[in-house]
Amino acid sequence: MTQAIGYIGRFAPSPSGPLHLGSLTTAVASYLDAQHHQGQWRLRIDDLDTPRNQPGASDAILRCLERHQLRWHGEVIYQSARLALYREAADLLTAQKQTFYCQCSRRMLNPAEPYPGTCHHRMAAPPPSSSDTGYALRIHTRSAEISFEDQIAGPQQHSMASLGGDFVVWRRDNQPSYQLATALDDGSTGITHIVRGNDLLADTARQLFLVERLAGTRASYAHLPVVVDAAQVKLSKRTGAKPVDDRQPAKNLLRVLGLLGIVAPAEMMGAKPQELLSWATQHWQLPGAETQTWQAGEN
Ligand code: GLU
Repeated sequence: MTQAIGYIGRFAPSPSGPLHLGSLTTAVASYLDAQHHQGQWRLRIDDLDTPRNQPGASDAILRCLERHQLRWHGEVIYQSARLALYREAADLLTAQKQTFYCQCSRRMLNPAEPYPGTCHHRMAAPPPSSSDTGYALRIHTRSAEISFEDQIAGPQQHSMASLGGDFVVWRRDNQPSYQLATALDDGSTGITHIVRGNDLLADTARQLFLVERLAGTRASYAHLPVVVDAAQVKLSKRTGAKPVDDRQPAKNLLRVLGLLGIVAPAEMMGAKPQELLSWATQHWQLPGAETQTWQAGEN
């Protein structure tokens, strides 16, 4: 059992490439929020999406965080080491008849409509046991509504139907889905606070739906503006965002703090990463709801 303490935050990057300005900003914001509340900040590597994992990216992320003095608490958690737990959770949901096996191909489904229930009758089909069995496992969402209070965006109410309805908890390539793994990890490892990008707001509703079904504990959420490029596109590894140059951590931190609205005074300009983080911890506050995006600006 995880001992209940006041604040346990986490940063959960996917090793699909090195950190870029957007992911470093999320890391710094969640770190500062944890430090400000004298809490713990944990690190989890979301390495289940094997086709997108990039060799060496996990180590590069760890090194980059260390160079910026973003020190995490305890061991790094690798989702790939927790597969048996995710399988257990999926089996539990299946034993409770909350899931069904789905053979629909992506082409058969209209992404603008909730899942039409085509495979609802497939309760008894065998679970996928090798890669690409042609089956995914979906969860019945029925008419569920999920509400939560986001610390930045305010009160949230989402109907699961409006979010696409029955979603995948176990993928046809025999991997847990992002939703299942995240819900289990965030809901059952003592995490109390999640600070991450507002591109994940709808995923939070899906994850809280699963946290409830898995009898986990709800964390408090704060969804930050995402960092966008000049074309207003969210910085991401997929769209080729430049990796952070970790030979100049103080410069990167000043830039990130500027985005976070914590503008360091002139006398901090030559400060070391640790000094910048300590200073920023004292001045930390979450951004307001009015900002949806942060502009990356020129490199
Ligand atoms: N690993 C995912 C990402 O990097 C999700 C992060 C999260 O759940 O906070 O986008």
